Amino acid sequence: MNDEIAQRVWRVRERVERAARRAGRNPEDVRVVAVSKTQPVRAIEEVVAAGIVDIGENYVQEARSKAAQLSRPAVWHLVGALQRNKVKQALQLFTWIHTLDRPALAHELEKRAVAEGKQAVQVLVEVNLGGEASKAGVAEAALEELLRVASECTRLEVRGLMTIPPPSADPEESRPYFRRLRELRDRWQTLRLPRVSLEHLSMGMSDDFEVAVEEGATMVRIGRAIFGARLTRGTRAGNCEGAEGAPLVERR
Ligand SMILES: *Cc1c(COP(=O)(O)O)cnc(C)c1O
Repeated sequence: MNDEIAQRVWRVRERVERAARRAGRNPEDVRVVAVSKTQPVRAIEEVVAAGIVDIGENYVQEARSKAAQLSRPAVWHLVGALQRNKVKQALQLFTWIHTLDRPALAHELEKRAVAEGKQAVQVLVEVNLGGEASKAGVAEAALEELLRVASECTRLEVRGLMTIPPPSADPEESRPYFRRLRELRDRWQTLRLPRVSLEHLSMGMSDDFEVAVEEGATMVRIGRAIFGARLTRGTRAGNCEGAEGAPLVERR
């Protein structure tokens, strides 16, 4: 074991802090969520030891098995797509669900929250701003309807919005998407729907988190800049994809 991870955590923190100050924001208003998909529990232990309590995972099963082995307390965030048949297990572990993207899922979360005795499930609505058909997230045009549906679910607290811009080599290309998410937040916050507070913006990953912080992110979801290159599943080397259960292979 060395302190490579601790150093990366420190550097990410410093970059978040500088970006926040550039934008006249308080760095403490930005949470770093360390996204640990494919990473071993040992690496998560180091991240938590370095002071990050927020851990993001893409798959319910993977997160459950890691949480069971982790020796330190963490706050778990689900940042990957949620299937209806995993909702019950997800509610048992995750404090934050970043990926509410359809009315049927809101209804399932509500139903399971009642069954599990959960009073308040904290969710973010994932918005697909790039219009990429392959990506998860509610289309901008359907956002209002989803917020209204979620607002009628008395066990759901809609705390904010989340987005993943189309991949690009230039972080500046993400800026219009981040800005748009903030504008949508500002707009729908004025509706004052019950249990829809929208104070959070979950946006920014390893390659563009500074731009996201400048545009108002309150949660940045960071994988590689903290853990280093990740193991990926099968041949699907995409950032945010992979079939659960497929074998892990080294990437690059
Ligand atoms: C993997 C993943 C991240 C982290 O990606 P990096 O580019 O490694 O920082 C963030 N958000 C989601 C939804 C992800 O799937």
